[in-house]
Amino acid sequence: MVIDMKIKFLGGAEEVGRLAIKVEDGNQRFMVDYGMIPDKPPKYPMPPEPVDGLFLTHAHLDHTGMVPHYFSKFSANFYATMMTANSIKPLLDDALKVARLENYPRYFSAEDIDSVFSSLIPVNYGEYNEFGSMGFTPYSAGHIPGSTMWHFQNSRSLLVTGDLNTKDTLLLDGAKPVRSDVLIMESTYAGKNHEERSSVVKRLRESVKEVVDQGGKVILPSFAVGRTQELIMALSDLNLSIGVDGLGNSLTSIYLHTPGYFRSHRDLRRAVSRTRSVRNARMRESALENDVIITTSGMLDGGPVLNYIRKLADDDKSAIFLTGYQVEGTNGRSLMENGTLTIDGKPMKPKQRIEFFDMSAHAGHDELVSFVKEVSPETVILCHGENREKLLADLSEFEVILPMNGNEFTV
Ligand SMILES: [Zn+2]
Ligand SMILES: [Zn+2]
Repeated sequence: MVIDMKIKFLGGAEEVGRLAIKVEDGNQRFMVDYGMIPDKPPKYPMPPEPVDGLFLTHAHLDHTGMVPHYFSKFSANFYATMMTANSIKPLLDDALKVARLENYPRYFSAEDIDSVFSSLIPVNYGEYNEFGSMGFTPYSAGHIPGSTMWHFQNSRSLLVTGDLNTKDTLLLDGAKPVRSDVLIMESTYAGKNHEERSSVVKRLRESVKEVVDQGGKVILPSFAVGRTQELIMALSDLNLSIGVDGLGNSLTSIYLHTPGYFRSHRDLRRAVSRTRSVRNARMRESALENDVIITTSGMLDGGPVLNYIRKLADDDKSAIFLTGYQVEGTNGRSLMENGTLTIDGKPMKPKQRIEFFDMSAHAGHDELVSFVKEVSPETVILCHGENREKLLADLSEFEVILPMNGNEFTV
């Protein structure tokens, strides 16, 4: 007998971020992710609703940022890979610190962050598990270390991708499609394709060398989770001195202590050993003796990166290379579009060379389309995107639903 599935997005349907998908499948109620948008000020999902299981796709705050809030109100089994579970603590602590400093509303305390882990049931890729009367299996989503697609098996099967990358990167293998009746898929890059990863990395390596050969320094503003480590892998064999500053160092130590998630744990370890981590104010003073600095924050809205940019602002031999998506309204976007940014309330226009290298951790338009075709579902539900309708023409052979936050629907 086929049972209807009731689905409701508490966030993240028609937008990138604050993903929260509540599913009722027969007797089982569960939620995939409970995130926020770490903007200034942050945006939060709708209030939590009690479920029996909370499944986390990955450690980014737009998928996990409100998980402690959920557990401050309700209980549930909490499923995640060990890598995701290990990665979320420093990120949630950091989000709480930012909320304190900026006087944002606080939805949870430091104790709530710790209490999340008492409900944790760690799971491994490819292993079948049971949740009430249903089965489920986690698979790699290829997005960041530990990222998971959840495959639920009840009267029908449901695949929830979370953030998805089907292409191999230096760190991770791309996600492989899993046959499913219903597919809930992210669509961040609907309507856009990426430059081939290997050619982006080649261009980045050449540009970094060129700047250093001409006597300049390269600043690489970088996300802590995954990107910092991928940049380390991309540049560590260039025979340059590379300093790594910010939250990325904490994630790197977690990665090195959580084996089993990388294309090559050994290569990552070797690459990291060729860099120097900058861990305090004294080391920060001399960090610019390095040729290259990889540092947070990735969108230049805070973190040690601003200090480095300020110190090199008049050096036109130096460069700032951006490698991640820059959200509208951030310093990073402003730097990309008109070469300016604001540091401590003061606008400035650094003389450094500024360039963008598209090292996205998300599948591009064509990859999303091929992924759907291989999953071959009856119904596709698109979320986590602002241009979801751009996929409709290429998915015309499927029933496609574009849900809106807060509307419950049945499939
Ligand atoms: Zn996301
Ligand atoms: Zn993500």
